[in-house]
Amino acid sequence: MRTGEKILVAGSGIAGLGAALALGNGSRDVTILDRDPPPPQGSAEDAFHNWERKGATQLRHSHAFLGRLTTLIRERYPDLMAELLAEGTRLFGFADGLPVSLAKNYVPAPGDEDCKLLFSRRTTLELILRRYAAKLPGITFVTDAGVRGLIARREGGRLIAEGLKVERDGAVQDLRADVVVDASGRNTSFPDWLRAEGISVHEESSPCGILYFTRHYRLRDGESEPPRDGVPGAGDLGYIKFGVFIADNRHFSVTLATPEIETEMRMAVMKPENFDAICMALPGAARWMNPQRAEPASQVFAMGNLENVWRHTMKDGEPQVLNFFAIGDAAVRTNPLYGRGCSAGVVGAHLLRAALDSSASPVERAKTYERDLTAAYRPYFDSMVELDLNAIRRAKHERDPDYRPGLRARLTRSFADDGLMPAQRGDVEVSRAMSRIFHMLDEPGAFLKRPAIMARIMRIWAMSAAEKKRLGLYPPKAGPDRAGMLALLKIAA
Ligand SMILES: Cc1cc2nc3c(=O)[nH]c(=O)nc-3n(C[C@H](O)[C@H](O)[C@H](O)COP(=O)(O)OP(=O)(O)OC[C@H]3O[C@@H](n4cnc5c(N)ncnc54)[C@H](O)[C@@H]3O)c2cc1C
Repeated sequence: MRTGEKILVAGSGIAGLGAALALGNGSRDVTILDRDPPPPQGSAEDAFHNWERKGATQLRHSHAFLGRLTTLIRERYPDLMAELLAEGTRLFGFADGLPVSLAKNYVPAPGDEDCKLLFSRRTTLELILRRYAAKLPGITFVTDAGVRGLIARREGGRLIAEGLKVERDGAVQDLRADVVVDASGRNTSFPDWLRAEGISVHEESSPCGILYFTRHYRLRDGESEPPRDGVPGAGDLGYIKFGVFIADNRHFSVTLATPEIETEMRMAVMKPENFDAICMALPGAARWMNPQRAEPASQVFAMGNLENVWRHTMKDGEPQVLNFFAIGDAAVRTNPLYGRGCSAGVVGAHLLRAALDSSASPVERAKTYERDLTAAYRPYFDSMVELDLNAIRRAKHERDPDYRPGLRARLTRSFADDGLMPAQRGDVEVSRAMSRIFHMLDEPGAFLKRPAIMARIMRIWAMSAAEKKRLGLYPPKAGPDRAGMLALLKIAA
């Protein structure tokens, strides 16, 4: 392992912070540059209201960390986990998400401790991660520093990264480094800079097909969160998806995701009164939003241009550019609905550290990182692309009164609605298997390869609908149908 290397990281979002954690053991000199200002000195409230982050436009949308990331933090950085919890962020374990009927007979099994979501406003998460990372040896944060270009030279048909052009206080200076890391997020300019140097950057992209809307709320003084029973706090009605995100310090947020083709709905939802009216029509959100219990704490934030994107700088298995690595959304970005981006960013940063430690050869390092990132994230990426394309088709059918699904579509739907979903509500082993996939601990579809789990699902699929209803295996209705919701919003279908 080479030590004393100088590393420049462009971007101090979640992946840049992950790089600080992974590389901050004092053996390297790591400078993390961000175009945005530093976090305010004060509390989580200050950060939520006053931290200007034009470089991370998703900052005020609901965020949660999956088990893959909370496990990494708990195992490698227990003092960081302690700080996060002390500042009011919340862990939500496997048992917390079980329906009451399963929760009452729940017996913990090995691995359940890894299925934990960390809930918090993202500003709070970043604030605490940042304060922790800034104290690590060898880590320096430079703020208000816009990266304007890559410094590189050509050698043996390859491009060798040597540093960054950085603008501060109106002047651009060259900063030199042994390794350059692109952690500048979804709108990274590095692909353009690399293309300008003759590198072919291949981008796989596929639409998520949704728009994202978030509003934050605060529990009123003396009020507490609704009990965790009854109607689930998340659901998919085809024309809209919703989720309640518990957060830190008596806050929570609701996110609504509308299919892109739901033009009327997506226009309407931007208005706070419509946003609240939609939520109040969704029992799983209404119990949180009830005006006696909570009050709005923000405007409605909207976000579009959501795509699954994987960028490749390797060509025919060979790196075209050396001493350059992309992590986080700059490398791979995915549908926010699955909540996998932050885990992928921080895990990717740790894979980068492992690749740098594995060899002094820039070619070997590039190949190791590419191989490990592909192994860690490709199955999830492929699954999200497929699920998103299915959801886009479903949203289209939802608007077509003449649509009649074929046999295959009916079977797939019935397996999901009458087999998998009720089995998740009625069988703790199925619920556990699905939870491990959700948390990125097992690969998508892992349950299909486990005969014992499949047998449990098939048993419930084979039950009559009446029996499943009697056992409470169908979730309560998530909300009105599309026509009902449009009528509520006084929009013609
Ligand atoms: C609406 C929405 C909701 C999401 N919800 C979740 C969730 O619940 N859970 C989850 O895990 N993931 C979620 N994600 C994904 C998650 O936000 C991203 O995957 C994650 O932020 C990626 O981290 P990053 O560091 O790569 O990029 P970012 O966090 O976007 O950070 C990029 C950083 O680079 C800086 N930067 C950009 N350009 C320059 C430049 N030229 N010079 C200097 N600095 C620059 C920016 O200022 C920013 O600080 C969500 C995404 C969206 C869009």
